[in-house]
Amino acid sequence: MRSTDAESARSRQRRATRLAPSPTGGLHLGNARTFLVTWTLARQRGWRIAFRIDDLDSPRTKPGADRAAIEDLRWLGLDWDTEIDYQSGRLADYEAALIRLAAAGLIYPCRCTRTQIAARIASAPNEGDHELCYGGFCRPAARQPIDFVSLKSSGVAWRFWTPNETVEFDDQIFGRQRVSVAEEVGDFLVANKQGCASYQLAVNLDDEAAGITDVVRGDDLLSSTARQWLLRRALGLPCELTYWHLPLVVGTDGMRLAKRHGATRISELRDAGVPAVRIIGAIAAWCGLDDGKPRSAAKFAEDFDIEKLPRQRVVLTGEMLDAIYRGS
Ligand code: GLU
Repeated sequence: MRSTDAESARSRQRRATRLAPSPTGGLHLGNARTFLVTWTLARQRGWRIAFRIDDLDSPRTKPGADRAAIEDLRWLGLDWDTEIDYQSGRLADYEAALIRLAAAGLIYPCRCTRTQIAARIASAPNEGDHELCYGGFCRPAARQPIDFVSLKSSGVAWRFWTPNETVEFDDQIFGRQRVSVAEEVGDFLVANKQGCASYQLAVNLDDEAAGITDVVRGDDLLSSTARQWLLRRALGLPCELTYWHLPLVVGTDGMRLAKRHGATRISELRDAGVPAVRIIGAIAAWCGLDDGKPRSAAKFAEDFDIEKLPRQRVVLTGEMLDAIYRGS
């Protein structure tokens, strides 16, 4: 399809977003807020909602965490319009893309990624994971077609040949963004040493396959967007996704929620007898809605106004968490 045809087909198609939990542990209050707002934007605006499990990050993926995430979201009152898609079921598509990118000389094999730090770059780089700017040590002197398949089992990782340019895009919450990927992370990983696609690559193919038009997610992934934009262009995918990065809920140390911040998991709250309406009430208060009185997801969707969403991160203190448990 010529790009103008693709663009007009896209503009005629129904808008769509996705819920895409990573099954790396139980969903916490911060995840719940992101998913509730994503679902609400979709239900308010008539977008289709796809559901995807982001389970490529194998050392961190926990068995059963996919089912637990689905149960938590259903318990909160969320629903979706598609079958559940697993990234681990799409490896052949990712490999086909890697073969194409390598044949076009847009990615290259890298042998200097034995350290744990480099391994972290391969996964979804949520905040708190430290990214290194890769110095391009294995970058060939000139672009050249490379046979991905013949090198796949030789234990090399693969990096994207990052162009030296500034990527510009609009975020619906954070406004115009200008990012030099070359300066921030350099030639980033697109596949690990097992030849498995990185999150940065897979997410583009998944979103395209599911017809996603609106990406709504936590602001810790804002810095990934420029990388994904470059990859979309390299893959020949339309680049005009609409992005909504929601300010995260963080602990008092400013980091995204984790065990050390207390029992913030939805399953822990549920097991302690906290009703879903109370959790949604607390989330409503964090979204700039009145006093945070208990309400269902459907009522939240009636009341929510993206214009009222505070542009700052929510800091969840111990007292705020206690109040959710106590119901006061
Ligand atoms: N699975 C990612 C997360 O839970 C979201 C990925 C994305 O929205 O692109 O943070």
